[in-house]
Amino acid sequence: MEKKDICSYTWEELQEEMQSIGEKKFRAGQIYGWLHEKLADSFERMTNLSKALREKLEDSYEIRPVEMLERQTSKLDGTNKFLFRLEDGNVIESVLMRYQHGNSVCISSQAGCRMGCRFCASTLGGLQRNLTPSEMLGQIYRIQALTGERVSNVVVMGTGEPLDNYENLVKFIRILTDEHGLHISQRNITVSTCGIVPMMKRLANEEFQITLALSLHGSTQEKREKLMPVAFKYHLSEVMAACDHYFEKTGRRMTFEYSLVHGVNDTDEDAKELSGLLKHRNCHVNLIPVNPIKERNYQKPSKKSALNFKNKLEKSGINVTIRREMGSDIDGACGQLRRRYAKS
Ligand code: SF4
Repeated sequence: MEKKDICSYTWEELQEEMQSIGEKKFRAGQIYGWLHEKLADSFERMTNLSKALREKLEDSYEIRPVEMLERQTSKLDGTNKFLFRLEDGNVIESVLMRYQHGNSVCISSQAGCRMGCRFCASTLGGLQRNLTPSEMLGQIYRIQALTGERVSNVVVMGTGEPLDNYENLVKFIRILTDEHGLHISQRNITVSTCGIVPMMKRLANEEFQITLALSLHGSTQEKREKLMPVAFKYHLSEVMAACDHYFEKTGRRMTFEYSLVHGVNDTDEDAKELSGLLKHRNCHVNLIPVNPIKERNYQKPSKKSALNFKNKLEKSGINVTIRREMGSDIDGACGQLRRRYAKS
């Protein structure tokens, strides 16, 4: 019989589960603390549990390993990129970025992705499978254990479309922010979506205080269709309505991610259209000069033209930053390290 994935239980679920095997509720609290606060990687380490209970846990449950295969460190800014192997052999990547305000980890939510965005290396091999809550948490836990440094911010912006793995994502957020675990503030979590409208609406109703980031990348329906196949399914007007709904329900200002692709969406006309779309919205825009990937013929704009684009948005009163490039001397674009591994 397959052992159960014990790190994927929320606090409430673990209490029910332990009661269902004849254990007292407080035992669940002890186990939860070992798993999500002390980041224990074996039942053996849970020394305040009786040997009999540890053996019982060992028989029916497992702490699924997220094993490090490779770690690259940027000489420029100390950014670390990790390649992890999951229990079934799938490989995923995560990034640790060190900022003045704390350490931020960008995690993957799926092995591969089926969304097909044209500028993205993560989707080139399609979707293998969804990650479980424990595999999403495991990336953060391993990075904390490997570096000995506390993670204070989490962005779900690596490989995968998080809202295409909705149930697991929601459980992951509940466990990560639970006061009995790492207790990361919901306000320090950002989830990025390419615009899956029904799931954006559902997320608005969860009453989380997380930031939702929309991968916009084009300021008109036509431009989005060229860059993101998901645009054929959800029209830009529906996506923007879902963003407004999210802001109304949660009071959280939306972030819009806009990859600047030279000659494709970085013209003065694009800046004008984008300003028109966003100027009456309470939001923040992140401009991301695209990382070239060799399978596609996209180039990043010059620094001058990115700055020019930014100035045009600012003139319309839009809050905008150009995302600082982190770790540009290591396998740059999201999904490239994993892809190089898959090919070797
Ligand atoms: S940008 Fe995100 S949603 Fe789009 S293909 Fe890449 S991983 Fe998937």
